[in-house]
Amino acid sequence: MSHLTDWAILSPLAIALSALVYIALERRFPYDPGQQIFRKGWFDDFVLYTLVQSYVLGLAINGLIAWIDGKSGLSRLHLVSGLPVWAQLAGFFVVHDFYIYWFHRLQHRNPVLWRTHEAHHSAEQVDWLAGSRSHALEIMINQTIEFAPMVLLGAAPEVALMKGTLDAVWGMFIHSNIDVRLGALQRVINGPEAHRWHHSSRWRDHGFNYGTKLAIWDWMFGTLYLPEGRKPPGYGLLGESTYPTSFLGQQLAAFRRFTKKDWSAEFGLDPRWNEPGAVQSLPRATGSRRAAPLTLAAGSHRDDGTS
Ligand SMILES: [Zn+2]
Ligand SMILES: [Zn+2]
Repeated sequence: MSHLTDWAILSPLAIALSALVYIALERRFPYDPGQQIFRKGWFDDFVLYTLVQSYVLGLAINGLIAWIDGKSGLSRLHLVSGLPVWAQLAGFFVVHDFYIYWFHRLQHRNPVLWRTHEAHHSAEQVDWLAGSRSHALEIMINQTIEFAPMVLLGAAPEVALMKGTLDAVWGMFIHSNIDVRLGALQRVINGPEAHRWHHSSRWRDHGFNYGTKLAIWDWMFGTLYLPEGRKPPGYGLLGESTYPTSFLGQQLAAFRRFTKKDWSAEFGLDPRWNEPGAVQSLPRATGSRRAAPLTLAAGSHRDDGTS
């Protein structure tokens, strides 16, 4: 079997197995106890976003990239084909992660781009599945930018499958409701501790922890937020109780009319988050204030009185 065939089989297996492991760990070591597996929005997130939308957009994005390649003929130059597969994967991984940090940060600052991202923030219970809730426009933009270079630069065909698997497995991890303690590693890689804060209902637009896989960008550019001893008070869109709960409603909501509020001076810029001491937590490259011991095991709860 070719490496491509291997990965075509390995990829869905690895994703399904990871999902089962995360579900089991969420039951055993919950970050927020009491969250249900079949929580609000489960059907839409699993069936419509994860299965249907991913499949349809996958075909569309593949078609678009093949069209670009047909017009440009770029893949025939085999610009990266001579590199070992691991080097290709590592290169695309780091470059894309840097891109997605900045695009994500921009989505929280620009009212038009926010329309492509607010669906992702609408989940009121964040778990292994919640990350799949991404508007079709956001997927089209991000995955075209992610996968087109692999094809156009002549990467080995299995690199895209390997990267797609990594995206899915890591994406489920950072959203999972698992009480993981990465300790000092949190400055390097992203995990649930940081990303669950990014979904906090308290500061929808305030913007911290934009990283997806690597946390070094947040650390370097001063957006890493890892408060000690507290947890987000809840998740979802702050003050947006009218935001649709259905897949179709969320898709259409991106095209609603803009109001003055969307363009107000406060949009996406307010760094004050009503939390005592929070401003001191704004780190620069000198590091975050988190100094918890490095433990990978789930453990007892941090106390914020909310869980
Ligand atoms: Zn976000
Ligand atoms: Zn997320």
